[in-house]
Amino acid sequence: MIAVTSSKVSDERIDEIVHHIEKFGVQAHVSKGTDRTVIGIIGKADPKLAEQLRQMSGIENVIKISKSYKLASRDFHPDNTVIKINDVSIGGDELVIMGGPCAVESPEQIDEIARLVKLSGGQVLRGGAFKPRTGPYSFQGVGVEGLVMMAEAGRKHGLLTITEVMTPEYVDVCAEYADILQVGTRNMQNFDLLRKLGTCNRPVLLKRGFSATYDEFLNAAEYILASGNPNVMLCERGIRTFETYTRNTLDLSAIPVLQSLSHLPVISDPSHGTGRRELVEPMSKASVAAGADGLIVEMHTDPDNSMTGDGVQSLFPDQFAKLLLDLEKLAPLCGKTFNTAKSFQFA
Ligand code: PEP
Ligand code: MN
Repeated sequence: MIAVTSSKVSDERIDEIVHHIEKFGVQAHVSKGTDRTVIGIIGKADPKLAEQLRQMSGIENVIKISKSYKLASRDFHPDNTVIKINDVSIGGDELVIMGGPCAVESPEQIDEIARLVKLSGGQVLRGGAFKPRTGPYSFQGVGVEGLVMMAEAGRKHGLLTITEVMTPEYVDVCAEYADILQVGTRNMQNFDLLRKLGTCNRPVLLKRGFSATYDEFLNAAEYILASGNPNVMLCERGIRTFETYTRNTLDLSAIPVLQSLSHLPVISDPSHGTGRRELVEPMSKASVAAGADGLIVEMHTDPDNSMTGDGVQSLFPDQFAKLLLDLEKLAPLCGKTFNTAKSFQFA
């Protein structure tokens, strides 16, 4: 259930209403809009509460949300959530490009890739220090040392950083070194991890489980929101279908659907979404055309020798730079701004 205030209600009155709600043993989540405030009531509420709220001064409407997720829904938060990290805003007018290798491999590798991401106009450096590999004998990532290498490269080149966290025990150390924490597709329903991320002070990029419905995806986001972290972005990274030519099927419809159901920013991952380098450029552009707030793209200086199998889907640096130049032209047609500063020279 949500209670919507009339316009321009004072903060004191909102506090009184929240206090009243809490007396019923339920939680109240306040979301301030430009004009009105929406108070989400989470928990099994006594029907008397709805009746009382309807009579209270300052309340204009009380609406029952029938969806299983509440805080993630647009009913609760009609305006887009914009996540601001330093000078980058995710979910607003700006198109945000996250680029980098599948895995952090060495200080030299991540430093050089960070330099190229920055030069091309990207705002965020991606790289996994802990890798969720399908097989236990595959390279599992360089661990905490990789976090240190990536933090240093991000700082040196003026980029934000994003890295995957796989277990609740590692949330604190990942949050110490990275600006954004990524939940991988295999962990979308790792509820202990989601709850722990709800208590940390870093924005979270939640990847869609490769067989998750939108409803399951938004409920996973709800776990993080309900545990106290409002800064969640949703990432479409492809789902498993009967097709075997591509690694996954990038579900482009997810972008407008999630944006209609939810206020959270939506990021597209055309690298894991296709698994094929030659498809990354067209599917990046298609994602932006579909309204994505940002992209997360794998790029490597030596993809043939990358330590994970994801070299086949990684762009070469010149392809990444060319893509970003094209996105600079495309973004304004799709309601976004994006500026590469055109500093990159490629052959
Ligand atoms: C990754 O980003 O490198 C990754 C493992 O992604 P996903 O969880 O989408 O497979
Ligand atoms: Mn990868």
